[in-house]
Amino acid sequence: MIKRNPAFQALKAGYLFPEIASRRKAFEVSHPEAKIISLGIGNTTEPLTPHISSAMADYSRFLSTREGYSGYGDEQGLKALRSKIAETLYAGTADESEIFISDGAKCDIGRIQLLFGADVGVAVQDPAYPVYVDGSVIIGAASSVSAKAEPCAKSCSETSTGAHTGYAGIVYMPCTAENGFFPDLSVVPENSLIYFCSPNNPTGAVATKEQLKKLVDCALQKGCVIIFDAAYSAFIRDDSLPKSIYEVEGARRCAIEINSFSKPAGFTGVRLGWSVVPKTLVYEDGTPVINDWNRIMTTVFNGASNIAQRGGLAALDETGLKEMRSLTDFYLENARLIKACLQGGNFNSMGVRIYGADNAPYVWAQFPGKKSWHVFDEILKQCRTLTTPGSGFGPSGESFIRFSAFGSRSNIQEACTRLSSFAL
Ligand SMILES: *Cc1c(COP(=O)(O)O)cnc(C)c1O
Repeated sequence: MIKRNPAFQALKAGYLFPEIASRRKAFEVSHPEAKIISLGIGNTTEPLTPHISSAMADYSRFLSTREGYSGYGDEQGLKALRSKIAETLYAGTADESEIFISDGAKCDIGRIQLLFGADVGVAVQDPAYPVYVDGSVIIGAASSVSAKAEPCAKSCSETSTGAHTGYAGIVYMPCTAENGFFPDLSVVPENSLIYFCSPNNPTGAVATKEQLKKLVDCALQKGCVIIFDAAYSAFIRDDSLPKSIYEVEGARRCAIEINSFSKPAGFTGVRLGWSVVPKTLVYEDGTPVINDWNRIMTTVFNGASNIAQRGGLAALDETGLKEMRSLTDFYLENARLIKACLQGGNFNSMGVRIYGADNAPYVWAQFPGKKSWHVFDEILKQCRTLTTPGSGFGPSGESFIRFSAFGSRSNIQEACTRLSSFAL
């Protein structure tokens, strides 16, 4: 019989979201009348905006005409869209030839791992979006010998520096309230891949330019490549905060950026994203990384949907940018409402501390001395509201709860009303 890929054996059970679903189910069985509100999953809820959706509808009709029909396009994406992204979002920092259109950020993160193979060391923020770790484990990077950096050589659990990792080859970089959610970079192994997400899911923290400069300097000094996940950049309202890693000097020599239309345009179902691989990013032997990325994208990817790409083009013209702005403003207002509610009443006396929300669609709330899963269960029981336990995103998320601002206004308001009488 064929053998199972040992990487899957090593993969820890996809624990978080199935566990949340099963606790919800159990609650619903015992309380069939309960109308549960979900502030749990980071999935968009508001409809596509008119200008962007009509661009896709029009193009799809055009495809049904002889003159309008087209089949496969360039794997790298529509030239017009690549150049629109370059000019609108990376003026002066990336060229259109360095932009690759894709079916979304998650898919790009998965393919990126093919680029560096199983021997690479990995450093991730803790807590983090689960795809960085699980994708690395699947490719085998988590058990690579060369990646067994000092910090986890002993037990691969808790290290002297406080870095925590459940897998050999993966170093967790704690991001806590104490360090302002920016990690101690001394734990980063040499020649490793650093996953970094800002604005961050789940913490909602946005790295400052000074912090990103530290990250870039560390990567250049240690020979690392940063995978910068900017999926929430459109939620940044503080103009002093960087929306792209390329705003930092030196990033073009050490960073790949990933972004997506999912969260700002509600394209979670439509599917459209992009990656940026600067020509100046090279391997040890001098080969440009972009050559191999182009090879991967032309080999295991066949281009993003041509309809979705017309939506992306519309999203970046004047009207589209306004529509995305009002959509992100809507979710940010939800975040503000949740934050205000958690700053009032009983939460104060529980010593709850609130982070995130201002430039990200997540509120990250710490319940000092409590376990995340306990708080999750109590909020579900008392408020019939679903959240996400912070510990599910990594060990440093313990005692935190993530509240997602993706929801209709009436659901958010109702959740806030219910939360106002919460007590622990
Ligand atoms: C939602 C999300 C993505 C996924 O984006 P898609 O383009 O829909 O695949 C990537 N990164 C983070 C941090 C996210 O929260």
